[in-house]
Amino acid sequence: MNKTKSRKILLLPGDGIGPEVVREVKKIIEWFNKNKSLDFSFEEELIGGASIDANKIPITDEVFYKSLESDAVILGACGGPKWDNLEFSKRPERALLKLRKELKLFANLRPAICFKQLVDSSSLKPEIVSGLDIMIVRELTGGIYFGEPRGIEPIENNERRGINTHSYTTGEIQRIARVAFDLAKKRKNKVTSCEKSNVMEAGVLWREEVQALKDKEYKKVELNHMLADNCAMQLLRNPKQFDIILADNLFGDMLSDEAAMLTGSLGLLPSASLGLRDKKGKIRSLYEPVHGSAPDIAGKNVANPIATILSLSMALRYSLDLPKEADLLDASVQTVLDDGLRTKDIMSVGKKEVTTTDMGDAIISKLK
Ligand code: NAD
Repeated sequence: MNKTKSRKILLLPGDGIGPEVVREVKKIIEWFNKNKSLDFSFEEELIGGASIDANKIPITDEVFYKSLESDAVILGACGGPKWDNLEFSKRPERALLKLRKELKLFANLRPAICFKQLVDSSSLKPEIVSGLDIMIVRELTGGIYFGEPRGIEPIENNERRGINTHSYTTGEIQRIARVAFDLAKKRKNKVTSCEKSNVMEAGVLWREEVQALKDKEYKKVELNHMLADNCAMQLLRNPKQFDIILADNLFGDMLSDEAAMLTGSLGLLPSASLGLRDKKGKIRSLYEPVHGSAPDIAGKNVANPIATILSLSMALRYSLDLPKEADLLDASVQTVLDDGLRTKDIMSVGKKEVTTTDMGDAIISKLK
């Protein structure tokens, strides 16, 4: 067995069910250290509402710098009703925005996998979603959510105008397309790039730059272009035609939520946000479940920890260079589902309902 050099994982449980689901991840990291001779060092810090309560701000400089120095950051969730009345700039979610912005996490990877065991949880017919395995690669730091000018301004006749600007540069398009093409090589070698080049100049540029990069550097990857609205429709009609969907910030936001719903439960969906590789070869990264802090079930030990556990699996694969361990963890999740164990959110007739803790323990028992 290889002994890896010590890698730092920063755990940021956050609020609501965050601490409950991250606790299960911690148990798995400890298992890997003990049984696979890995020597992850990990620390746990406050973020979001928990940090506001302790430090009056959603993330302290100390925690922020620790996240810069870590090989992977794994976050639970931020926010909840307790902090809903704070002004926008002081709310728990600001911590997350700060991390994404300052770590320059421009690539968001969201797999939408429909586990065969849970095919009945999807709102689509089983034959359409069974075995579905697609990856949405969304640009995260550009486009209409950040473009200038923006704002709301008064105009004549006592009316107002809301303005946002959708803009992308060659460099921004190329770096996200590169993430999609590199990933394609490890999957089915197929990328579908989405934009609205029929009505938007930024969409024309997007299509041209993605195609140019493919022609120059990724000749063997199959590339298709699709209008984003058609992609939304195709995701419902025949989602298995896709392998990787590449999209900008706005369209990626919508397509990834739509793809998520094909799979049935929020409690199963992980995500990774990646930045550029630094001079030492380290990629800045943040891994988190797609779901939020689920205040309605917090503290009850009923939350599904699988989304966060699969976020650890993504961290093993993309930041820690441990694909075999990631495969092992993915397979253990599958086996536990095969065995019929279900948390409340994915419970169905004839299956066994288990707690958050039981689900984590069962997955660990399959790692063995
Ligand atoms: P949510 O994802 O927290 O919950 C939506 C529904 O799904 C709830 O009924 C919840 O019980 C259920 N659910 C979510 N995760 C689950 C899990 N792991 N197991 C079982 N059931 C699960 O979304 P929301 O209710 O819109 O938001 C609640 C809070 O979370 C808000 O304060 C919001 O701002 C915050 N939020 C944070 C993030 C983040 O930190 N990345 C993302 C989304 C929402």
